[in-house]
Amino acid sequence: MATEKVRCLIIGSGPAGYTAAIYAARANLSPVLYQGIEPGGQLTTTTEVENFPGYPEGITGSVMMEDLRKQAERFGTDIRFGIVTKVDFAIRPFKVVIDDTHEIEADAVIVATGATARYLGLESESRYRGMGVSACATCDGFFYRKKDVAVVGGGDTACEEASYLASICKKVYLIVRKNYLRASKAMQQRVLNTPNIEVIFEHNTKEVLGDENGVTGALLIGNDGVEREIAIDGFFLAIGHTPNTKLFKEYLQLDEQGYIVTEGGTSKTNVPGIFAAGDVRDPHYRQAIVAAGSGAIAALDCERYLMDVVAAGNVK
Ligand code: NDP
Repeated sequence: MATEKVRCLIIGSGPAGYTAAIYAARANLSPVLYQGIEPGGQLTTTTEVENFPGYPEGITGSVMMEDLRKQAERFGTDIRFGIVTKVDFAIRPFKVVIDDTHEIEADAVIVATGATARYLGLESESRYRGMGVSACATCDGFFYRKKDVAVVGGGDTACEEASYLASICKKVYLIVRKNYLRASKAMQQRVLNTPNIEVIFEHNTKEVLGDENGVTGALLIGNDGVEREIAIDGFFLAIGHTPNTKLFKEYLQLDEQGYIVTEGGTSKTNVPGIFAAGDVRDPHYRQAIVAAGSGAIAALDCERYLMDVVAAGNVK
């Protein structure tokens, strides 16, 4: 297997990864960044981003990520396609295998692998995945113009997706398992004031119904045990995310939900020289601006580590 030596390796290409790359490249750390399964990260599946400072008119997620990529490249980041398939953080330099074929030895690693959307785990849900079942309303909503759809979840994502779908679809059912929405007040208000959104509280999905052409409905069950069927063409999940930390769990300390634990206010993990940034370490805020900020922190921590520890020959 071909081996290559790198000073600063960045894994992930969301706002955290690219911001870390901009800072690391400007600090002459010659960063190499692997984009992973979803180049540009979750924001490429969003339509409009209106709350990132500096864009008074808003910007689409994919354009913003393309701009971030160009900015990272402008300062010399080596941006590559490729997926990390194995790591060894117990040895120095750290070993990271790309696509099972290429081995990298890195003095420091910034993990910015983000988080992935969750599904309910129903057999019927996986049967119709891509045939009406989706975890990204902004990616797939367009296919359901003037049709009826359902969104599952009661958080900000679910409300945001329901609002977005309501602007395209005829009717949107929001299926919420509790008797309240967990989303912020502003999002709740938006949903409750949208005439073509019907919130179905205290219901879970028992089955996604369909035929050879895809989803035709959903069978819901109320917390009182009463079943109800709705006719829909699209079934959207918005029930949270799982951090992409499987590869690292042997080495890095994770919290009970699997997010990487970092030392208060820094990007430092329990392994000196491994830093974490973005949603992979953030179960709470999950905002592009927060991820970008944490990417900057990771690059600054990494720069100090490379100067104070690696360059000074103090690696343990
Ligand atoms: P959350 O974890 O906040 O919400 C998940 C929702 O899905 C909850 O209502 C939860 O129900 C429900 N849920 C979970 N599992 C199931 C299941 N098996 N069946 C049915 N329902 C289920 O995730 P979000 O992705 O909405 O948000 C994550 C974070 O990102 C939050 O901090 C949020 O504020 C933030 N965010 C902010 C945005 C913004 O400011 N523009 C936009 C989007 C997200 P229950 O309440 O019963 O647990």
